Amino acid sequence: MLPTPVAVDSKLPWVGTTIFTVMSKLATDYGAINLSQGFPDFQAEPALFEATLRAMQEGRNQYPPMAGVSELRTAIADKVEALYGARYDVDQEITVTAGATQAIFTAIAAFVRGGDEVIVFEPVYDSYVPAIETVGGRAVYAQLEFPDYRPDWNQVRSLITPRTRMIIINSPHNPTGSLLDGEDLAVLAELTSDTDIVLLSDEVYEHIVFDGARHASLAGHRELASRSIVVSSFGKTYHITGWKIGYVLGAAELMTEFRKVHQFNVFTVNTPCQLGIAEYMQLASRHLGLAAFYQQKRDFFREQMKGSRFELLPCRGTYFQLARYAGISELSDREFARWMTCEAGVAVIPVSVFYRDGRDDRVVRFCFAKQDATLVAAGEKLRRL
Ligand code: PMP
Ligand code: GLN
Repeated sequence: MLPTPVAVDSKLPWVGTTIFTVMSKLATDYGAINLSQGFPDFQAEPALFEATLRAMQEGRNQYPPMAGVSELRTAIADKVEALYGARYDVDQEITVTAGATQAIFTAIAAFVRGGDEVIVFEPVYDSYVPAIETVGGRAVYAQLEFPDYRPDWNQVRSLITPRTRMIIINSPHNPTGSLLDGEDLAVLAELTSDTDIVLLSDEVYEHIVFDGARHASLAGHRELASRSIVVSSFGKTYHITGWKIGYVLGAAELMTEFRKVHQFNVFTVNTPCQLGIAEYMQLASRHLGLAAFYQQKRDFFREQMKGSRFELLPCRGTYFQLARYAGISELSDREFARWMTCEAGVAVIPVSVFYRDGRDDRVVRFCFAKQDATLVAAGEKLRRL
């Protein structure tokens, strides 16, 4: 190990390694079934790989345009219009990003200045607050209350100040699986009208909503769309989390600012994967079928959990299932997640990591984006606890 003479003076003194990396490593070290970090354990379709390989072989291997190849931006514009009825301009209002994480970081860096306040909802996805603090902003916390995890808009109203620069929303919500609906968007529109608040809407699970619900995209709400950066990720939609490709939508004036940062952050995203996805997306059933596909997985996993002592919470979207374990153990959720991984053979995510003060409702998160055989094997272990 190389010693450094530098006094580091961390910008993020309270931040360690992300829980997803920690739990996946622990799962590997202990040979546990990994239902912690959110990724599928099954393959994407060969047609996606073939389209990507063809792009490589045809020589599409140099820098694409900074905002992404036009084939992919056009496919995104078409999809968004078909689903949400809004036509984003291919040249000025859509940018391809290196996954949603980069999109979120870049949007925050583009709009949040030192001392600005950004409202987030707890439990909060783990990348938002470190991004806010890296650029000198201050996170202000609204609560999604256990067990329904619905926003309290009166609380949000009370948190808005002249310093509020951004509100970050996430629906379908990770880790809770809750959804915002049209009424939520109407209140949000009322709360933000006549302000300079930018909305950052993390919609990476836009295609994974259950029981006939419709995803309420900010892209589909004209007033909100005009002040929003909407983020999505192909990793979730096409079972390729390791490709790290997503995109953002936003009004041209907002997108101009986003791109000022994006071009010096990643500049652009690898060409052949963009072209492969653009071709693969042409068949709309590939994203439209995702809700039914994951609803079947959700129900199958819940079936496996029957007869266990876990208490399952509602799951209206995403590929995560929350469960209370108070009937099994009195350990804190972090200790319980560790024990589950090391002793019980199933790795999970403790939900308290998504709270600034470590609030612990004795709830853990399971990822059910897994082959049925994996869910059966996990169920056998879970029912024994
Ligand atoms: N936001 C949420 C809510 C997520 O769950 C994830 C990843 N699972 C991301 C952002 C990051 O997506 P990506 O892998 O495309 O960076
Ligand atoms: N979003 C994924 C999850 O919630 C993890 C992504 C990551 O590891 N950064 O599990």
